[in-house]
Amino acid sequence: SILDFVDAGSIEKGKKFLEELREQGGAGGWEIVVSNGLEAWPLSFSGAAGETSMIILAAPAARETMDHGLYDELSRLNNELINRERELARKGVALERLSAEKTRLLAIAAHDLRNPLTIVGAYADMLKGQPGLDEESMQWADEISRSARFMRELVEELLDSSRLESGHVEVDLQEVDLVAAARHAGTINRMRADMKQIPLGIETEVEKAVIRADPVKLRQIVNNLVVNAIKFSRSGSPVTIRVRSAAGRALLEVVDQGIGIPPNQLSTIFEPFATVGPSGTAGEPSVGLGLAIVKNLVQLHNATVEVESEEGRGSIFRVAFPSVVDR
Ligand code: ADP
Repeated sequence: SILDFVDAGSIEKGKKFLEELREQGGAGGWEIVVSNGLEAWPLSFSGAAGETSMIILAAPAARETMDHGLYDELSRLNNELINRERELARKGVALERLSAEKTRLLAIAAHDLRNPLTIVGAYADMLKGQPGLDEESMQWADEISRSARFMRELVEELLDSSRLESGHVEVDLQEVDLVAAARHAGTINRMRADMKQIPLGIETEVEKAVIRADPVKLRQIVNNLVVNAIKFSRSGSPVTIRVRSAAGRALLEVVDQGIGIPPNQLSTIFEPFATVGPSGTAGEPSVGLGLAIVKNLVQLHNATVEVESEEGRGSIFRVAFPSVVDR
């Protein structure tokens, strides 16, 4: 029969075309796919039928021909894609739930460690003040005190970052002066810099740069950057805290001439626990949360943070806040 050449998917249509042709004496514009089993061509069928004979004309349909196998393969791939998408969405939800649970457990652990660590540190400090303590015991007490302080800092960072990650942070935005914040960071880090003989300077192009920020969180941003700049600079190499304004933005730059960051790691340093090296230039411990915290805090301020760095030559960390125009 004439239907022998019709592609399996078009048989029904072919039958209907013949039916219409017989019953009405004419039919036109039926798109039917014919096939030789290897290739398929969509053709547009028209015809006229009398009592004893009929004429059928077929012309290429407007559509481009497509290899039969290719067509099948495409629809199979399409189905597979839809299934995978569904599966992925399901996994995404499960992952989010797991991640929130992890953050919660981390916060509980960190919180419960805070008090005992404070007590350990405080007793170690008291011990150091005991009269008649021999040199060696003094060193031990000092080491206990230093380690307790580091662990406490770590715990605070973990708490901060888990709070930031879970979105349970409130920002108290006020008009604050970025220049004053830079000076403050210079003051509180003076001793840290002196211990490594690092000249810590402040450079400001403007006298005042008013931004809307949470004062405590702003200090944390600047401080984390300055602490890093000192940590990753060699003794004697200068660190500068700079405030500029450019294109409606107030810029805070922390500039160092330290060890720099390899190009392939520039994109990951703002992720949690993405430490590049084992420690600072004087063996300062490295946790890998400081910049993740900075990034989260910066986002809460509608600001951006970026880094320019060259291995062995130094880094510039730049935070750009929308500036508040004095009216
Ligand atoms: P941490 O300082 O505790 O390691 P951070 O999140 O603050 O964690 O920094 C992540 C990593 O980015 C650091 O381990 C270091 O390798 C790199 N880094 C950060 N700041 C600087 C800098 N000023 N110079 C060179 N490397 C830096």
